[in-house]
Amino acid sequence: MRLRNKPWAVKLVHEHPESVIDRPDPSLKIDWSKRFADISRPLEIEVGPGKGKFITTMAEKYPEKNFVALELQMTAAGMILRTKLAKELSNLQILCGDAANIDAFFSAHIASKIYLNFSDPWPKTRHEKRRLTYKTFLQKYQTVLRANGQVEFKTDNAGLFAYSLQSMNNFGMNFDFVSVDLHNEKEEVLAANIETEYEHKFAAQGNPIYALHADFGV
Ligand code: SAM
Repeated sequence: MRLRNKPWAVKLVHEHPESVIDRPDPSLKIDWSKRFADISRPLEIEVGPGKGKFITTMAEKYPEKNFVALELQMTAAGMILRTKLAKELSNLQILCGDAANIDAFFSAHIASKIYLNFSDPWPKTRHEKRRLTYKTFLQKYQTVLRANGQVEFKTDNAGLFAYSLQSMNNFGMNFDFVSVDLHNEKEEVLAANIETEYEHKFAAQGNPIYALHADFGV
């Protein structure tokens, strides 16, 4: 999904270096302890948050955790920032960069969860390496996650879901939760689910939402 360029969003990002790290040099590690009031809190990362409905809701709901929105597009980063500022979410940082460098942006074993929500499906075989559940990405998530840290993945795309199950299984990951119709799961699952923009749109059209939680073991 490519968002139309919004000059206000780019300007806002440039005005708030305390909240957004803009395309950092992957050879320089980011000192996250300078970015959060208490780095000992669990750190959770969303890769590709888009406009940020999910990650800003999470940051509001769980003030005892730290969150990072890792987003490629500057316009999307600006939209997340606007919500962060309006809701005064001091536990949310925005990182404008490519998830291909996630293991450079974060030190090893720093995060307890990585969320992949409605990632671009890249259906053509020749684009397989761009899928965020391709083995090279899984390897980087494993480095960044703590022991027993989880990847939580949601999508409306059956092809990407099947591919991701296979890719994670081949990588030796353990599945802690799998659903092929998340919105018709039992009440406690529904109560814990935070919708994303894409999820809201696709579910309203009557499409099933696929979801999984998986870990790399210890
Ligand atoms: N997660 C949101 C949702 O569910 O509503 C947005 C989904 S949108 C289809 C995918 C998002 O992932 C876009 O905002 C895109 O810029 C971002 N994205 C794609 N590849 C990325 C990458 N390699 N690193 C960081 N963000 C990426």
